[in-house]
Amino acid sequence: MSRFLQKGLQSLEVYTPGEQPQDKQYIKLNTNESPYPPGPKTLAAINRQEGENLRLYSDPECTALRDALAQRYGVERGNVYAANGSDDILNFAFWAFCGSGGKVRFPEISYGFYSVFADLHGCVAEPIPLKEDFSIDPGDYAGVNTFVVIANPNAPTGLALSLDAVEEIVKSNPNHVVLIDEAYVDFGGESAVPLTKKYENLLVVQTFSKSRSMAGGRLGFAIGNRGLIEDLERLKYSTNPYCLNRLTLAAGTAALLEDGYYMDNCKKIIAARAWTKAALEALDFTVLPSKTNFLFAASKKISGEELYRKLKERGILVRHFGKERIKNYNRITIGTQAQMEALVQAVREIMGG
Ligand SMILES: *Cc1c(COP(=O)(O)O)cnc(C)c1O
Repeated sequence: MSRFLQKGLQSLEVYTPGEQPQDKQYIKLNTNESPYPPGPKTLAAINRQEGENLRLYSDPECTALRDALAQRYGVERGNVYAANGSDDILNFAFWAFCGSGGKVRFPEISYGFYSVFADLHGCVAEPIPLKEDFSIDPGDYAGVNTFVVIANPNAPTGLALSLDAVEEIVKSNPNHVVLIDEAYVDFGGESAVPLTKKYENLLVVQTFSKSRSMAGGRLGFAIGNRGLIEDLERLKYSTNPYCLNRLTLAAGTAALLEDGYYMDNCKKIIAARAWTKAALEALDFTVLPSKTNFLFAASKKISGEELYRKLKERGILVRHFGKERIKNYNRITIGTQAQMEALVQAVREIMGG
């Protein structure tokens, strides 16, 4: 840190992304990426022509992509905002809808970025503990009269809230934005997108990083009432109007032309998830019922940290979190069936069976 950094940023606790080691080939089950490559139409869109077009600025309005998203999700282009990863949208949302001194509620155990953005923008964060079974109690968010951010399904637990519970939260906080982060919704959750037509305070955020195999492309989007989208656009045109690059715009638009390919991959992941859950339970693990592309699992016979370390020695990366309440757990991304068999075999060896 230099002596020039402004005081307000000196104590900021930054987000720690999952490891992306470059030293050797791991079976990477630690950052919830897809094990499948982008589809053929998506890859074909990242072509030489588009490469040559890099000399030109990209479309600041992201028209083609937003039209494709609007069609896919049954809304209008004006209800869609696209950005350089959903992290960018979350950042803007904390800035736009909470800001300095504003209150925000989110689950204490959830996506680690929420507290970072709250801190960055001087918001007063009220992290709410999960219930004993790691689920979210919708009653903790109903009628609270603050900005609310909920990952649904939640990470790293994998548990989902029902659409009725989400609606109750949105309906009972009419004077504040409720942001539902649906990064994992394509793996079995119920999307709140249809509710955006009914509630002007609901913003739904999704990403191409998980279900659409484009984590490295950096593409996220939000759907909501036109007014909310305009608010996000206001921040974009005050910071970085060309925030989406040409290659990502082309790839994202093409991905929606072959959405069936991605949704089929989600089905394969859901099947591998069921197989892995059963296999881990047979090894005496506690495994939460997941609606995501990962499992959250713990064993009484080995600490979460030790299992993480021993898997890494065997070339398999999973995600371990140090927080007291979940330190016995690991978050295991669902890969291909073959990768999951390798994981289970390694766990079996580590457990001495
Ligand atoms: C992965 C993830 C994101 C970030 O998505 P990007 O679009 O890659 O920035 C946001 N929220 C949750 C809950 C996630 O798990």
